[in-house]
Amino acid sequence: MPLGCRTHWLRRHFNFRPRKSLGQNFLMHGSVAQRLVAAVEEFAPQRVVEIGPGLGALTVPLAEDNREIIAFETDRQLCEILHWLFSDCEPVAIREGDFLAADLTGLAGPDTVAVGNLPYYITSPILEKIFETHPGFAGLVITVQQEVAERLRAQPGTKQYGSLTIFCRYYAAEIQRLATLPPQAFWPSPQVSSQALRMTLRPEPPDGVESEVAFFAAVRGAFAHRRKTLRNSLKTATILDLSAEQVEALLAEVGIDGTRRGETLDFAEFIALGNALHRLPQGT
Ligand code: SAM
Repeated sequence: MPLGCRTHWLRRHFNFRPRKSLGQNFLMHGSVAQRLVAAVEEFAPQRVVEIGPGLGALTVPLAEDNREIIAFETDRQLCEILHWLFSDCEPVAIREGDFLAADLTGLAGPDTVAVGNLPYYITSPILEKIFETHPGFAGLVITVQQEVAERLRAQPGTKQYGSLTIFCRYYAAEIQRLATLPPQAFWPSPQVSSQALRMTLRPEPPDGVESEVAFFAAVRGAFAHRRKTLRNSLKTATILDLSAEQVEALLAEVGIDGTRRGETLDFAEFIALGNALHRLPQGT
């Protein structure tokens, strides 16, 4: 049965009404579901962790290969429907509850991929949770709002480039756009278009980073005041609490022109800035 027909059959049969407050927009295009599942399969994972399975648009094709699927769904009625759908499908485990509160210990690792058409209202916290889980996931296949996807994949010097871009680059070695989805690809249709992305996550921090804490402090400092020069943004960033002399020492150490703006720095320059901050002598 085509995905869109199955979704409507399920919601009628179970008298289910989607909840906007939970970001419930269900994927209706089977070809897109197949594209996402194919992207998951490229990692050849032994286990898949799904965020927000909904009415099973991705869970059903993912389960075809008989691999272990742990699917976190917060909506109780959807969980009942999912239990009914997968009652004879042992490798699929439905976990009722908030993914953000879930204990992922023992679930992530180099054989595990996370997947989901994400509920848009909590995209950033979900990304943080996935990126910061140790040991990490091998990869991530997600659908997010187009505007967020553009920020995640932005190039230096563009309006979209910011701390979210660098945060994502820190954890993802590669980000690939799989598809752009118009609002009509979902039911009910959201206001905006979406993008499906595939990320290969790094097993280790990026080469050359001496301190994760200093790296992210440097990023936050550089983007603290986007309209200011890098020099002034670093000077006035409360998170850094640096004197004017310390900022000059930092810029001299990395050889970056302080009249540039933070958003023009590439990833390697942020690594250099973070390392210099890490090594900055106290009381300079
Ligand atoms: N995967 C389904 C699809 O593609 O049709 C549903 C996607 S829908 C955009 C997002 C799903 O995430 C919904 O099923 C919603 O109930 C669920 N959800 C929302 N907040 C959640 C949370 N905090 N933890 C787990 N699931 C959540």
